[in-house]
Amino acid sequence: MAAAAASSAKRALLPWARDAHHALARALQGCGGGGLRGALQMAGSRWSLLQCRWRSSLPQLDSADRSDEESGGEIDWDNLGFGLTPTDYMYVMRCSLEDGVFSRGELSRYGNIELSPSSGVINYGQGLFEGLKAYRTANQQGYMLFRPEENARRMQHGAERMCMPSPSVEQFVHAVKQTVLANRRWVPPQGKGALYIRPLLIGSGPILGLAPAPEYMFLIYAAPVGTYFKEGLAPINLVVEDSLHRAMPGGTGGVKTITNYAPVLKAQMDAKSKGFTDVLYLDAVHKTYLEEASSCNLFIVKDGVVATPATVGTILPGITRKSVIELARDRGYQVEERLVSIDDLIGADEVFCTGTAVVVAPVSSVTYQGHRYEFRTGQDTLSQTLHTTLTSIQMGLAEDKKGWTVAID
Ligand SMILES: *Cc1c(COP(=O)(O)O)cnc(C)c1O
Repeated sequence: MAAAAASSAKRALLPWARDAHHALARALQGCGGGGLRGALQMAGSRWSLLQCRWRSSLPQLDSADRSDEESGGEIDWDNLGFGLTPTDYMYVMRCSLEDGVFSRGELSRYGNIELSPSSGVINYGQGLFEGLKAYRTANQQGYMLFRPEENARRMQHGAERMCMPSPSVEQFVHAVKQTVLANRRWVPPQGKGALYIRPLLIGSGPILGLAPAPEYMFLIYAAPVGTYFKEGLAPINLVVEDSLHRAMPGGTGGVKTITNYAPVLKAQMDAKSKGFTDVLYLDAVHKTYLEEASSCNLFIVKDGVVATPATVGTILPGITRKSVIELARDRGYQVEERLVSIDDLIGADEVFCTGTAVVVAPVSSVTYQGHRYEFRTGQDTLSQTLHTTLTSIQMGLAEDKKGWTVAID
């Protein structure tokens, strides 16, 4: 039965995918020992997931293959991490440097894109990304976005820094909505996760001498996600990095450029190999003031006063950060945006991180120069209150008095 299913799936594949199919079959034969049929049966659900992934990555597909259009296919909604599950469609919009404005974009099947080997993004890192989430509403009928105009504006700001034209706020939000609707079967049921939406703006045109690329591509893809850290909603353990830095004054730490991330993979990998969840970066000048983690902002609470590093160009101005500051102030907390030293951190009662992917993540320990400092987590902490308040607004469970959410229908 598995072999029959496999061969009909094989027929539906394009030539390049058939080659990949043969390669996998050979590999399975090699490791299973009992021939393709036995190996396929052994591979079980893993095989059908692979089939489903291949299908999703084909640029063109006939409608006969879309029988599971209304559901998430083989997805195990209860065990979503932050991995890449390819979905059905992506949104693409192009613009030349000469024109300077994006005109009309369109949806296409999710799949590989073609780029010149001399494209600006590959050679000189001319690129930005964004990240936002769509949640399914309580009645399971509609979808909600959280402050998508903020992501659009942040991309525009970053585009200026990286010498790129950018989509208008309206174009950006429209494209995000189109992407969500086209991939709606991949939006997890409420409470299981969200559809993570990844807009990209890249210098796609060819250029050899160092200069802005002649052509740009705005692209959005999406993937269903659960919790960001493997700890799930449990508190995380950070380590302060005092030799590698993610940003410096005058650099690009304040914009979401792709060039900020590969340089810190090393620090992140080192930290993970030692059992830490993520890295906390210090300012590159004094090595004394905290900046943020690899992909989220940092808050400390001491004697009921909240503090977070000010966004002065070396810290990514998070939309979750900005929202959490407002929510904490609404609850009567004093929130200071200022320099936060390592001593401030060590003396804090509570520490937490914020970001679209992590939401509000409690920090149970920070290790600095071999010493481990612990903080309050769990019941009656500010981070827990803020997590509940924020996610209730994002999922449409609490009234949105601030006009932060955008419904898609
Ligand atoms: C994206 C990002 C954040 C969080 O920003 P949000 O808008 O809250 O998602 C924080 N720090 C870095 C380095 C980031 O890339």
